[in-house]
This record gives sequence, C-alpha cells and structure tokens, in this order.
Amino acid sequence: MRVLVVEDEKRLAAGLRNGLEADGFAVDVALDGTDGLWLARENTYDAIVLDLMLPGINGYRICQTLRQERVWTPIIMLTAKDGEWDEVEALDTGADDFLTKPFSYAVLLARLRALIRRGAQERPSVLSAGDLALDPAAKQVSRGGVPIGLTAREHSLLEYLLRRRGEVVSKREILDHVWNYDFEGDPNIVEVYVRHLRNKLDRPFGRESITTVRGAGYRLAADGG
Ligand code: CA
Repeated sequence: MRVLVVEDEKRLAAGLRNGLEADGFAVDVALDGTDGLWLARENTYDAIVLDLMLPGINGYRICQTLRQERVWTPIIMLTAKDGEWDEVEALDTGADDFLTKPFSYAVLLARLRALIRRGAQERPSVLSAGDLALDPAAKQVSRGGVPIGLTAREHSLLEYLLRRRGEVVSKREILDHVWNYDFEGDPNIVEVYVRHLRNKLDRPFGRESITTVRGAGYRLAADGG
C-alpha cells in the first residue's frame, strides 16, 4: 500500500512517515503543494493524506485538480483547527474524509485503512434534481440545459439545498452552512436569497422547486419542481 503525505509541517510529516512505514505502508512525503500535486499525478497511490493550508498550491486546489483530472484516489484532508474549514466544504472539494489537527495517529490510521478498503470511487461531480443541475467544481448551474447565472452566495445556497434535496432544511442550518457559524446578522437574509433563487430557477421556467415549510424551513423538491 502506497500513501502520499502532503504536509508542510516538517515534524508532523516526519512523524506520519515513521508511523505509516512502521505500519507497513510505502510512504512518499511532499512538503509543499506543488510537489504534492506533481507526485499525485506522476504516481499511483492507494491514499493521499493532504494538508489544507500548504505553500505553493493549497490542499483544496490539489484535491479539486485531481478530481477534475478524474483521479479518484481516496483523500483525507487535514485542517489546522476547528472551523477553519467547514466539514461540508471540505467534502465538496472531492476529499473523502477530513481530520482536524491535532489528531491522534491511531484515528488517522483507522480512517486511512477504511478509505483504502473502499478504494477509489468515482463520484458524481454534478448535483441534480430533475432538470436542475449544479456543477460545484465548474460553478455552473442550469435548468433543462439552459445556463443560469448565480452569485457566489446564491450558488452556495442552491448547492446546500441540492445536497439535501427532498428534505426540510431550517433557516438556522442554512445560515450555518451557507453563511458562517458566527453569523449574527438578520436571519431573514435567507428569505431574500431564497427569493433570488426562485426568481432565477423557477419563475422563468414556470416551476416551483423551493417550497416554504411554515415554521420549519425550506425544501427543494427532489424532482426539481
Ligand atoms: Ca499546513
């Protein structure tokens, strides 16, 4: 089993190399993003342990680039501290799992073994509900093949609703995932953005995909409305 570790903290990188080698893995280490991406492209690995914040190219970009190139090697993303990177966002990059530093080596090893067991799995890069489609990597949205221009925030909101299509999601959940955990503005901002989405995704097409569920939140129809 061959593992690539991309980590710029030298002590952590050396510790991971020693630990993994002692556990029988062949280990390559890259101390910056540029080398990391190069190695990931040149060689075939069973898994990649990828730090998020790296000199050169960051872990998010590396992950995104590999997935765009249809490299499906399982990736565990390391994040520096809680809240630096939202769990959903970390997974949206195409990473398979993530660990917040500091983590225990035993936990990393267990997760790594689980990922390697599962193997490289191709995952759909486009989210859809009926004829409504969103490509998170390309940041493109379309309805029935017609491209729809969304702002960054509208895009994030639609992406979140699509990931939970068919479910009722509360305003609070939307604020936590699409805005920030520490958002302290007017929660009615969600209504404003839902209205923007309806005006762009539904009204011009005579559809109703986003329903308001009184007192509970919003639901994006699983069939796209
Ligand atoms: Ca780092």
